[in-house]
Amino acid sequence: MRPNSELHIAVFPGDGIGVEITPPVLRLAEAAAARTGGFSLRFDVLEGGAGYYRDHGRTMPASALDTAGGADAILLAAMGLPDVRYPDGREITPQVDLRMEFGLFAGVRPVRPVPGVRPVLVDPRAAEMDFVLVRESTEGLFAPQAPGTRTADEARETMVITRATTEKLTDFACDLARRRDRGRRVTLVDKANVFQAFAFMREVFDERAARHPDVTAEHTYVDAFAMILAQRPWEIDVAVTENMFGDILSDLGAALMGGMGYAPSADIGEGRAVFQPCHGTAPDIAGKGLANPTAMILSAAMMLEWLEAEKGAPEAGRAGALLREAVDRAFAPGSLVTRELGGEAGTAAVIAAVEAELGRLDP
Ligand code: ATP
Repeated sequence: MRPNSELHIAVFPGDGIGVEITPPVLRLAEAAAARTGGFSLRFDVLEGGAGYYRDHGRTMPASALDTAGGADAILLAAMGLPDVRYPDGREITPQVDLRMEFGLFAGVRPVRPVPGVRPVLVDPRAAEMDFVLVRESTEGLFAPQAPGTRTADEARETMVITRATTEKLTDFACDLARRRDRGRRVTLVDKANVFQAFAFMREVFDERAARHPDVTAEHTYVDAFAMILAQRPWEIDVAVTENMFGDILSDLGAALMGGMGYAPSADIGEGRAVFQPCHGTAPDIAGKGLANPTAMILSAAMMLEWLEAEKGAPEAGRAGALLREAVDRAFAPGSLVTRELGGEAGTAAVIAAVEAELGRLDP
């Protein structure tokens, strides 16, 4: 990337608390970019979500999808409203449509507690927890190419596991373990003892992982993995799994960090990515200033770090690291306690604390 160049970010505030947390997080990301110098961020704030569907009969304007497709990265807050649904009763989830549209097969959910946030597990080793859950995000039990069927007496769903996606996913997970260099271990989480789709996934995973001899590849059944998450998650490095299992396990991962308000994520494909907090639109607290913006700040940090590798923008990576460090420092004294953990700090208090720390950091 040339010095002083501009990175173009498509931004979807979406619905509910998404609309509240987006402006201050964009301000923080801009401030981090300005501190490093050498690049700037251009945000295109786009319409889309359940509220847009209610008013216009489609989830986003076609121009928004075009703009997002042409951007260097996409930052999305949250979409969906409980009372806005398609005629068949399904929720409006344009974020899932973006995964399919752009082939974002790797849902990356890092699980690392923010120091100073009240630990969920009592074992002191939990402070060392630092793993990444990679959720396959375009097929599995969510595969839109194989919708379920329903009659008056029976409903069925279909799980789709393909060789092509499993190979890409395995390469992605092994590359990630190599880059992290924290044990270089990738665990496939499956249920290969019961379902042929998972037996197939395991076979393809093993074949493909053999191409990464510097990475240890292993498997665990999902039920045993759920126990590991609760009892000794600090032993995990990179875990990779099917879409539905990933959906469930990533909420458990978020809980281990203190709650949905702390869990960032990315949906990554080939050259394209959407960065989004794990949480939804939280209608129960929307409009009250109570939402914890930490997950979105950390998602913006992941975006900047991805842009470093993807667009050759080392300053963006530095800006991401600054944001992350500012979050760690803001929470470190233990006095900033968010509402979901029984404290008083809402959106404004967290943003102010992170902003102050960002200003103090040496770029
Ligand atoms: P989705 O189906 O879109 O994932 P959901 O309704 O299952 O949405 P969330 O919207 O994430 O889940 O909300 C789950 C709970 O977590 C709610 O009680 C909500 O208030 C709380 N919550 C979610 N995000 C935050 C946040 N950023 N700060 C504080 N509380 C949050």
